[in-house]
Amino acid sequence: MAVSRDGVDQAETLSYPATAAAAAVSLDQLDTRLTDCHACPRLVAWREQVAAEKRAAFRDQEYWGRPVPGFGDPAARIVIVGLAPAAHGANRTGRMFTGDRSGDFLYASLHRVGLANQPTSVSADDGLELRGVRVTAPVRCAPPANQPTPAERQRCAPWLARELQLLGPSVRVLITLGGFGWQSLLGTLGGLGWQVPRPRPVFGHGAEATLLDPDGREVALLGCFHVSQQNTFTGRLTPPMLDDVLGRAVQLAG
Ligand code: SF4
Repeated sequence: MAVSRDGVDQAETLSYPATAAAAAVSLDQLDTRLTDCHACPRLVAWREQVAAEKRAAFRDQEYWGRPVPGFGDPAARIVIVGLAPAAHGANRTGRMFTGDRSGDFLYASLHRVGLANQPTSVSADDGLELRGVRVTAPVRCAPPANQPTPAERQRCAPWLARELQLLGPSVRVLITLGGFGWQSLLGTLGGLGWQVPRPRPVFGHGAEATLLDPDGREVALLGCFHVSQQNTFTGRLTPPMLDDVLGRAVQLAG
């Protein structure tokens, strides 16, 4: 029998996301279980290596270095789905999409449209609060080069699936940041019994689709370019473009 470094059966470690997520009865319990996940050896090694070596600018800080839970309102009407934590952003702060330029861009816009109490996100104790929105991702550990493998994406999927189930019928709008989040989310929702149009809606900035949850309620899906520096520094995604998508979400969420 293969045994991992902490003495836990390797098969049990690999199946942990599916079993632990499915049995979680609350978002708090889900988040607690998530932070103990070691199912992806490559990502566990990377998140811990980054946390130990640190970036010079954050040398005096203690990195989170673990899986990152969703952040925001537990009764969210809007859910934003990104890609994965950034090595020196959420992998440092422990809070999704905070602590780097991508977070600066996203949270400033959330504040402008009235979904956040402040425009900045620098650390887990900076007082930032979200109203009516939750920020999450289909992969919860920072991947090397921001690229999780297909197997890692698949292994991590149960965490987002259970998070969406526990958020339940309050959710009226889903926003994906980038095509990867779009595809991941549609796959996850299909597995949860949602009705997804066929052919599948195509991702694009400003794309909109209507999905039906398992109880037949309409939920809007909006596409938005990812808030990566690759997009924001080149002008592919500008603050007004992001404000437009988030403003549309507020309108649809009522
Ligand atoms: Fe667990 Fe997901 Fe992190 Fe893999 S990426 S170790 S499944 S939390």
